[in-house]
Amino acid sequence: MDIQYLKGVGPKIAKYLNSLGIYTIKDAIYYFPRDYEDRTNIKPIYLLKNDEMVSLIVEVVQIYPSRITKTGRTLNKILFKNETGYISGIWFNQSFIKNVFKIGERVFLYGKVTRQSGEFIMIDPQYEKDYEELPGINPIYSTNKHISQKLFRKIIRNALNYLDQEVEEIFPESIRKIYNLLDIKTALINIHFPANKEILEAAKYRLKFEELLIIQLGLFELKKKYSNNTTSYAMPVCKEMKELKEKLPFELTDAQRRVIREILTDMKKNKPMNRLLQGDVGSGKTIISVIALFNCAMNGYQGVLMAPTEILAEQHFTTISEILKYWNIKVALLVGSMSKKEKEDILKGIAQGDISIVVGTHALLQDKVEFKNLALVITDEQHRFGVRQRAALVNKGYNPHVLVMTATPIPRTLALFMYGDMDISIIDQLPPGRQKVETYFVRPNMREKVYEFVKKELDKGRQAYVICPLVEESEKLEAESVVEMAESLKNDLLKDYSIGILHGKMSSNEKDEIMRKFKQNEIKVLVSTTVVEVGVNVPNATIIVIENAERFGLAQLHQLRGRVGRGNFKSYCILIADAKTDEALERMKIMTKTNNGFEIAEKDLMIRGTGEFFGTKQHGLPELKIANIFKDIDILKVTRDLAKELIEKNSLYQEEYNKLNNKVNQLLDNIDDMISLN
Ligand code: ADP
Ligand code: MG
Repeated sequence: MDIQYLKGVGPKIAKYLNSLGIYTIKDAIYYFPRDYEDRTNIKPIYLLKNDEMVSLIVEVVQIYPSRITKTGRTLNKILFKNETGYISGIWFNQSFIKNVFKIGERVFLYGKVTRQSGEFIMIDPQYEKDYEELPGINPIYSTNKHISQKLFRKIIRNALNYLDQEVEEIFPESIRKIYNLLDIKTALINIHFPANKEILEAAKYRLKFEELLIIQLGLFELKKKYSNNTTSYAMPVCKEMKELKEKLPFELTDAQRRVIREILTDMKKNKPMNRLLQGDVGSGKTIISVIALFNCAMNGYQGVLMAPTEILAEQHFTTISEILKYWNIKVALLVGSMSKKEKEDILKGIAQGDISIVVGTHALLQDKVEFKNLALVITDEQHRFGVRQRAALVNKGYNPHVLVMTATPIPRTLALFMYGDMDISIIDQLPPGRQKVETYFVRPNMREKVYEFVKKELDKGRQAYVICPLVEESEKLEAESVVEMAESLKNDLLKDYSIGILHGKMSSNEKDEIMRKFKQNEIKVLVSTTVVEVGVNVPNATIIVIENAERFGLAQLHQLRGRVGRGNFKSYCILIADAKTDEALERMKIMTKTNNGFEIAEKDLMIRGTGEFFGTKQHGLPELKIANIFKDIDILKVTRDLAKELIEKNSLYQEEYNKLNNKVNQLLDNIDDMISLN
């Protein structure tokens, strides 16, 4: 049911709820608190300690007039007391506060205590006048300024009246008993309004359990559908391999050699390879895919490489064509923005088998793309694709070998969870000569100095990226912000340097032309949106300036920084950020401290729970509402085993299995919807 018809909502509040992703009553029920305040912690005032979160029931003693502080804020102070002492509440810039309370009235306060020159104060405490229902454990929601916590709670309470209509139990009693799970209704009521701490924990457990189980069932389901096959193309290592390696422009690293061996060994077998290749940005994954594709072509079969952006697909196409130019191997590019005629020719070549290696974007997934004998499927930057998209490409061949590549560093346990039973290869070494990218975080008032520094690099013959601020969708078009930034640099800070622009709204030919010029050093500075985020490789670019860096997450910043430091020159990443929140500051600091993707991912997890690295965009998995695949590893293991069992003996719980399956399918659809929105 639409949320606007819920008691106490209406069209106006419904809009605010919509902006939080709540459209239906069910969405509200599944909108879990971000935290709880434990108002069961009621203490006498004289026992309070600095920084302690407490609840107090107090009487209003005195209401002081507003006054202006040195920094220009309005300060309102109210003195409260109870049997055990006095405490003041302080509110900034909320003059209405003095009209909220009446002397002699009893109220409930919740907040952090500070001791200041012997006096107890609470800054900006929450208060409640109708405190009868309290004290207890109260939910705190991530909300916006239009909806107070109080109103939010009321809405959720009303939504919970619809549990019977809106929510379905998917676990039979037998399973609930074995795994000690609350029934779904009790769990949902107590995740919002827990009766006590114990039941809150039980409610969390039940909901995490369900969430993780469904994801695992989804993954098993996919695996069963797409990779449970046995026959494929056995491809021995071709005799030209040695010659190829000799012709490469560089020596392979030990890690690259090892990974290539693992892949070629898989390809020899008549069982499809199903392998994940993990390696931090710049570790040299592309050449691995080229070697695999070469072996495939030399064995007389077709191979395909799919990349998430046209720029990257084009870059790969160029690299591959260059490396393989000594052999008579036909390589083709297929991207959405090509002309109809161009596409038709290529489609024909693919269908007839004249083209051995195809590089492309999502355009490869269309029905009309038919291969003659597709034996090897590689996806680059796998985290940008949905699981079904990969599967769709795989289905264009008859059980082809599959290699997926990603820069996202994931611990093995998690990789197992996320990629099912894929084998994993890791490049844990950077090519020789790489230096750490020096990273600096500066405030916007330093911009001029930053661009002075950029000029120095440019004058040494190097090149630069400037990444444009993301703009709020409604504010301005992405394209405009890039154009504006480039104009302002041209007119001012980077006069006399050739500047090119790049953004998602440009046609493929335009993008091509700009990238070509940047690669050939005809353009010195590339002002771009995050379209260069993944994969782009221009080793002569040694400096990347990220404007409004506070708006990017850690994963994205790390990827963007990966655009420099790809050659032997010392490289720099400069984050211009007006970081106002602690979290944003923390992100900037982490970036300046480490270059290691794995460490960054871990820090990201600590700051933001699941973190961006393990969120939707990075893996094609849905955002987890409550579970944290890093912290809830125990539940992960239990649910993994149960998922296996359910799949193997699905007759045991047929009815529930079907219910689960519905959820699993919804989930898979959602994954692909979310991915294709990106
Ligand atoms: P990523 O793993 O991020 O996809 P790339 O494959 O784009 O990295 O490689 C990054 C850069 O390193 C490229 O310029 C590539 O030519 C170069 N490179 C890769 N392997 C080696 C190596 N063994 N020695 C020197 N340079 C290498
Ligand atoms: Mg790459």
